[in-house]
Amino acid sequence: MRLDNQEESKNVEDRRGGAVKTGGISIIGLVVAFVAWKFFGADPQQAYQVTKQVTSQQQPQQIQQPTAEQVASKTFVSKVLRSTEEVWTPIFQQHNMTYKTPTLVMYTGATSTACGQGQSAMGPFYCPADQKVYLDTEFFKQMKTQMGMQGGDFAYAYVIAHEVGHHVQTLLGTSSQVSKLRAQSNKVQSNLLSVRQELQADCYAGIWAKQNNDQKQFLQQGDIEKAMDAAQKIGDDYLQHQATGRVVPDSFTHGTSQQRMTWFNRGLQSGNLESCDTFSGSI
Ligand SMILES: [Zn+2]
Repeated sequence: MRLDNQEESKNVEDRRGGAVKTGGISIIGLVVAFVAWKFFGADPQQAYQVTKQVTSQQQPQQIQQPTAEQVASKTFVSKVLRSTEEVWTPIFQQHNMTYKTPTLVMYTGATSTACGQGQSAMGPFYCPADQKVYLDTEFFKQMKTQMGMQGGDFAYAYVIAHEVGHHVQTLLGTSSQVSKLRAQSNKVQSNLLSVRQELQADCYAGIWAKQNNDQKQFLQQGDIEKAMDAAQKIGDDYLQHQATGRVVPDSFTHGTSQQRMTWFNRGLQSGNLESCDTFSGSI
């Protein structure tokens, strides 16, 4: 997969360790200085300086530089996210709608989301409540080491495109319709609805691959095979083994490997939304 002629998205929020600035004067420090001046007659400038020293001792000024790997993964993710924006914006326009871009949050370990605490063990996921994709790039390494995938940039990009697919479903109102239906369904029906929703996100990832390739010729030999390999292994077979209590859509079953490949391919061949109707007919 080539990304050399791809711009970067501005919608990536990096919550990882690097480039974090701490220290300086806190609000509490200023309040302490004010109180000292007001009630104890201390010279405000002096009180401020003392507070500044204390605060600095407590919170040393620290600017961690991001590692080369962090910089590279952010560039990669930003380019892939931008490619999804460039694909979905015109598709929405063609349907007289506006594509509202999602934010992609990069984090390590755990992070707070509008869908509860996000954890690496969940794998990448989309939270409809804040319209953000959450990604710990360690997952890309796990895809290789623990899930036995061939890996490769396109397989990683496909993961992002699938999560963006859930964002598209949210914008189109599909996700809320599915949620309503699931609330009225028994467990089996509910799981089936989830599978249909997940397969549609795979189909949307296929649309992204097709349209982006038409725009930028980004696909290279072997990419599709690697994505198929990923589609085969990335299902919740892996995710379901993880911690329980997951409240985001990806905690549910994604369908069989065959179904996932079929629907990804359908989007890839057609490149249009209409071909991704996973809700009527057989899957
Ligand atoms: Zn999904």
